[in-house]
Amino acid sequence: MALKALDIYKLLPKKNCKECGDPTCLTFAMKLAGGKADIDLCPYLDEQAKLVLGATTRPPIRLVKIGVGERSFAVGDEFVLYRHEKTFYHPPGILFKVSDTQTPEEIAAATIRVRDESFVRVGADLRFNGIAIENVSGSVDAYAQAVTIVERVADLPLVLMSKKVEALSAALVQCGTYRPLIHAATTENFKKMGALAKQHGCPLVVNAPDLDQLAKLARTCSDEGIQDLVLDFSPHFLGDFITTSTLIRHLSITRTAPDLGYPVLLDATRLDLQDAAIAVGIVKYASVILTAPLSPASSRAALTLRQNIYTDPQKPIQMNPGLYRIGSPGKDAPVLMTVNFSLTFFTLEGYLEATRIPSFMLIVDTEGLSVLTAVAAGKLNETLVRDSLRKFSVENEVSHKKLIIPGYAAPLSGRIEEATGWTVMVGPRDAAEIGEYLHEEWKK
Ligand code: SF4
Repeated sequence: MALKALDIYKLLPKKNCKECGDPTCLTFAMKLAGGKADIDLCPYLDEQAKLVLGATTRPPIRLVKIGVGERSFAVGDEFVLYRHEKTFYHPPGILFKVSDTQTPEEIAAATIRVRDESFVRVGADLRFNGIAIENVSGSVDAYAQAVTIVERVADLPLVLMSKKVEALSAALVQCGTYRPLIHAATTENFKKMGALAKQHGCPLVVNAPDLDQLAKLARTCSDEGIQDLVLDFSPHFLGDFITTSTLIRHLSITRTAPDLGYPVLLDATRLDLQDAAIAVGIVKYASVILTAPLSPASSRAALTLRQNIYTDPQKPIQMNPGLYRIGSPGKDAPVLMTVNFSLTFFTLEGYLEATRIPSFMLIVDTEGLSVLTAVAAGKLNETLVRDSLRKFSVENEVSHKKLIIPGYAAPLSGRIEEATGWTVMVGPRDAAEIGEYLHEEWKK
């Protein structure tokens, strides 16, 4: 059972020394109660207090960081089974997998794609996260060479995959300081793999075929002092993955099986229907997903799905209200009013740019609601439009007083005219028709 902040506070040393990063022991206790801090941050806790607090205050799924620098990413630290209960916090890292039997050109090409490719969607830059390098050849030298090629091309988070400790050891000599994820400790080799992870301060994958063995292995590694673990249960079928991954999430967030409280890795290359496996991994709790380099269409599908699943369902992605320019609008440019729901903004912006008619977009604050919802909820109303026109000094920007409103806001047109003194023109309901509308209605 989770402890309350006050109960936790009673167990703290109360030095108020700030070494945990919090100004007082009480604020640290409050963070612990919310699962937002780790007891290890306080160096003065005695073993007994650590034992009591550790079991109840650690985040149910450990936060694990992979890589260093700008492209590093963190996974885990999740609290719910269903996104609508709160939100999912840390999107899975999706990494392209290469092998040391591929040519140097192929390895470099995959790395360059991860380094350079991105696409912008609703204002966010969407990218893949890193490279997984597998030691398929069994050769230590070939593996070290493949890792060198990746390293020369880009500083990206890596997953180092080999059954041979010597191969991983050779690779870690080159890239150990960059916190690659080591794959994988098994019941046979965990001592050596664990020693490597400790030596280089790297996160470690534990791999076992069933949950009992996985939990035991994770516990053993944790007892050995390796805390940053990732679980891999090597599913044979997609159905296996969904069932087991869901069970792990359930057991960990309810703290029924704390030894399973780590992020999960899915190697989609080992399953049929790779695109489907990636989609299932994103939705059903994979935190690290390995895939062969994807086609442009599959890349966009995967990155879009990940973005959608990992946005907060209680907070629509919003734009800052304001007056935005499309091109270099002059005094006679049209002014189009719409809401600050990002998807609405970026959709309309894209279609406006395509018209090549310089224009202004007046974005009003509907707290991220779409036009239809904002009209129904009364958030989009004549007062908001009037105040926004004033606040952003639209009158100073144009020589006319004509305002184009979205088609779905048509019922407000009369009231907006009365409140603002501007002539209201009702635009199309579908942003895709804005080009035709402007050419026919604005330029006539
Ligand atoms: Fe209190 Fe420990 Fe934080 Fe110091 S490090 S303020 S003793 S909780």
